Amino acid sequence: MDEKKIKKQLIRITVLIISVSIVVSALVLIAFSYVIQQAHNTDHTQMKIETEEYESRILKQIDKNIQFLTSLAKAFEVNDLTASTELIEKNLSAINETNSFVSMAYLSVDGKGIINSTEYGTKWEITLDDCADYARTAIEKSFKGEDAVSKMFDSEIFDGKLFIYSVPVHKNGEIIGALAASDTLEIFEDIVNGNTVLDGQGYIHILDSAGNFLVRSEHTIVKENMSSIFDGPYLSEKTQEKAHEAIANRESMYGEFEYNGNECHFYLAPIDLNGWYLFCANRLWGPALSFGRSVIILGVFLFLILLAMFTLLYYGYYRFRKNSSLLIRLAYYDRVTGADNTLRFDRKKEEITKKHKDYCIAALNIHNFKCINDIFGTEDGNKVLKFIKAKIEENLEPDEFFCRDSADLFYIFLLDTDESILSRRISSVILNVREVTQHAAYSYEVSLYSGLSIRGTREQALVALQSIKHNLQTDIAFYDHSLHEMVRKKSNIESYMQLALQRNEFKLFLQSKRDLKTGKITGAEALVRWQLSDGSYRYPGEFIPLFEANGFSVKLDMYMFEKVCIQLRKWIDIGITPVPISVNQSKRLFANGNYPEDIEKIARKYNISPSLITLEILEDIAASDAEQINHQINALQKIGFKISMDDFGSGYSSLNMLYTLKIDELKLDRGFMRKVAGGDDERRKIILKQIISFAKKLGITTVAEGIETEDDRDNMAALSCDYGQGYFFDKPTEAEEFSRLYMQK
Ligand code: C2E
Ligand code: MG
Ligand code: MG
Repeated sequence: MDEKKIKKQLIRITVLIISVSIVVSALVLIAFSYVIQQAHNTDHTQMKIETEEYESRILKQIDKNIQFLTSLAKAFEVNDLTASTELIEKNLSAINETNSFVSMAYLSVDGKGIINSTEYGTKWEITLDDCADYARTAIEKSFKGEDAVSKMFDSEIFDGKLFIYSVPVHKNGEIIGALAASDTLEIFEDIVNGNTVLDGQGYIHILDSAGNFLVRSEHTIVKENMSSIFDGPYLSEKTQEKAHEAIANRESMYGEFEYNGNECHFYLAPIDLNGWYLFCANRLWGPALSFGRSVIILGVFLFLILLAMFTLLYYGYYRFRKNSSLLIRLAYYDRVTGADNTLRFDRKKEEITKKHKDYCIAALNIHNFKCINDIFGTEDGNKVLKFIKAKIEENLEPDEFFCRDSADLFYIFLLDTDESILSRRISSVILNVREVTQHAAYSYEVSLYSGLSIRGTREQALVALQSIKHNLQTDIAFYDHSLHEMVRKKSNIESYMQLALQRNEFKLFLQSKRDLKTGKITGAEALVRWQLSDGSYRYPGEFIPLFEANGFSVKLDMYMFEKVCIQLRKWIDIGITPVPISVNQSKRLFANGNYPEDIEKIARKYNISPSLITLEILEDIAASDAEQINHQINALQKIGFKISMDDFGSGYSSLNMLYTLKIDELKLDRGFMRKVAGGDDERRKIILKQIISFAKKLGITTVAEGIETEDDRDNMAALSCDYGQGYFFDKPTEAEEFSRLYMQK
């Protein structure tokens, strides 16, 4: 999956998780506040019901007392008890003893009257003016025919507050006076006292029209002494304001206050009596309250559910995040070095080349990384890779980047197009790595090589890299199209060579070796031809250098050696006297200590005398360990093989070599055959003559390669060269054809 897509998805999921969390939290909050709201509503309704119940009980109590007075007034009328003051006094004191009134009084409409109290006896002559203001107002109402209840007033005869009931007294259909009874608020206290409301959590108090407590339940929520609901810090300013307003408008209201950590509610309701109010207070919240407890348990429960849900959500999200970043890491990063991988490299390249058109891609590889892994182990190999990664990083400029592909292959994106600058920059990495690994804890020198493609692709950089894969002389190559073709062919050959060997596509061709004087065939050279499935041939120049570099030449040489043995056996078997055959042998064979025995075995297998076989080696072999080569040559000669030095004079040959290596034959490179433009032909001949002369003195026979003309033959013969080989005599010919042409009985 695309990194951007993964990141987008991650953002989407983050948003989703947050939204879900918000929605769930909101829903839980709504549900919770709904429960609380419901609880409040139930509580309000309950308070209202109970308050109304109380109001009706209070009014009933007052009504009972009024009815009692009214009945008494009727008795006064029917029995004409107002006829004399004594009669009134007698009745009042008798009745007063049987009820709970503080005092009872009768006042005639002229304002004169009599009062009896159980405690202080009878006062015979009182006037309306002697009465407290509120009492007088009530009595005057009764003079006008009303039943009245006074407001509270301070009594002179009684230590405390009183109020009175007053009813009119009639005679012959006319009001003649009023019968009044005073009472304390204690009658309501019976109601209010101790009797809690709302399952024991609430209390009811009676307030006057200013909010002062008239009757305050002994069991109050607020334990402190208060004379008014506005006392103390309990009601907030706002609630106080609302309460004042409600009282002024004689309206009921709900309110809240907090006491000792408990949330309390109150209901304030006017009662139809003297502007009084009922004040119902109720504890709603608190850990000690059952409802509070339920709500707290519910809250904790919901909180735990939320917590569990969020934990699960977050855990899922965390796993997803981790997996996503793992996915990104796996998809875009190399696990060994932590560098980007090619996928990410290509993405970055795509992005950056939108703004930078001038760039170069370098492919960087280690010579023989496989050996480092094989000899020192993968761990050390990885250490080397990490070290190279760090070195590349150090050499990057802003906007440049790199990646590790696989094994030891790195790609670097550079913002330069100048070949010399690029060479310098890459060389500095290569040198740096070489220097450090030479001296630091590494026990081997890590040598890098690099292929670069300016404004090109990774593939092109790789082609340039492969062109110098086995070349230890060059460590930097730039890509061009011819290189591409070459590398394509090269990799084609490499991928197909094993199969070609199995399919016998490598054919034996023979070219005759002649006696220069007589022209007689004295031998032949085995030359390989690769016959492709379409019948066409590939020549050794196209594949031998590659096989020498990749080691396949060892296999091929042994194969050709065997083919030569088979050919010799064929000749012998049909009774033809065979001519010796020269076989080209690559340098690598000599590195194998068993090489002489190996080829001897093959020769034995076909019962071929080693004297029929000459092994051609190239002069550059002398650059290797001469002692070891000589040792091998010795062993081969002991078996009976002859050794020939091929292409002598083509490279950096030296006469010293004739001395160092004990060879049997010297093949003079065909370069000697040609006159060089501007060169002195005489000098060439002198040198040739001397070489041939030296060889002869050392017992080495000489063969001139590349005899193309009669002149060539005559010249070489004149120089005393023994044999010749070349197109003048014949071209390399398919072995069968060669046999047909030259090897007849
Ligand atoms: P070489 O061993 O020096 O072989 C002689 C080469 O010169 C052959 O090229 C041959 O075709 C060519 N030649 C012969 N006469 C003339 C001539 O008159 N004029 C010119 N211009 N060329 C002539 P070829 O067959 O293409 O082989 C090239 C080289 O490949 C050989 O050079 C040899 O070094 C190598 N080679 C060939 N076969 C084998 C093989 O089986 N094993 C190994 N290791 N190397 C082989
Ligand atoms: Mg040869
Ligand atoms: Mg040669």
